[in-house]
Amino acid sequence: INYQTATFITSAPNIRKLPEDSGIEIAFAGRSNAGKSSALNTLTRQRNLARTSKTPGRTQLINVFETATGQRLIDLPGYGFAKVPMEVKEQWQRSLSEYLEKRKSLKGLVVLMDIRHPFRETDQELIYWAVDCDIPVLALLTKADKLKQGARKSTLLKARQAAIAFNGDVQVEVFSSLKKFGIDQLEQKLDQWFLG
Ligand code: GDP
Repeated sequence: INYQTATFITSAPNIRKLPEDSGIEIAFAGRSNAGKSSALNTLTRQRNLARTSKTPGRTQLINVFETATGQRLIDLPGYGFAKVPMEVKEQWQRSLSEYLEKRKSLKGLVVLMDIRHPFRETDQELIYWAVDCDIPVLALLTKADKLKQGARKSTLLKARQAAIAFNGDVQVEVFSSLKKFGIDQLEQKLDQWFLG
């Protein structure tokens, strides 16, 4: 699939306003600042597809992109802001779990986590929900350039060990938008999910 052909389709304020639930889509999620926008820009070879400047705590939209051949990429709002009120967090959790449960076109979830702090509480919750809903997960350890090669390898091995505990289809890879690691693995997984 040529991800470079991806274009912006729409922003939705919540999951009910997403495009019709047909075809296939893959969602991208992560704590804010995990490197999600950078990863989407790297995947699509576009400098500004997913904007990388966001104000923490502002109501965020779900951005929808689509390739020329009709594969949808769903950019979910970043989570983990300390300042967000509890009600907003709970609302977000409800709508996200509903999305994972009910969205028929959703065939995979990419969870982006900074390689220096993988599997924080919300990341784990999200992965457990996905596994519960039989949605396969690709966990990307982002900003992998921040670690030297040895530390990067040992962190990857540890994260793969930790991922066994989810008891589901959870693949872990390293990724760097800066140094372009892990793009092939990401594309291969997306191709597999989109093409079956
Ligand atoms: P988002 O909030 O998850 O969309 O994260 P962004 O993509 O906006 O990135 C957050 C910060 O991390 C920005 O300052 C980026 O420049 C930086 N960043 C993103 N990807 C990488 C990477 O691969 N390597 C390094 N060193 N920094 C990165």
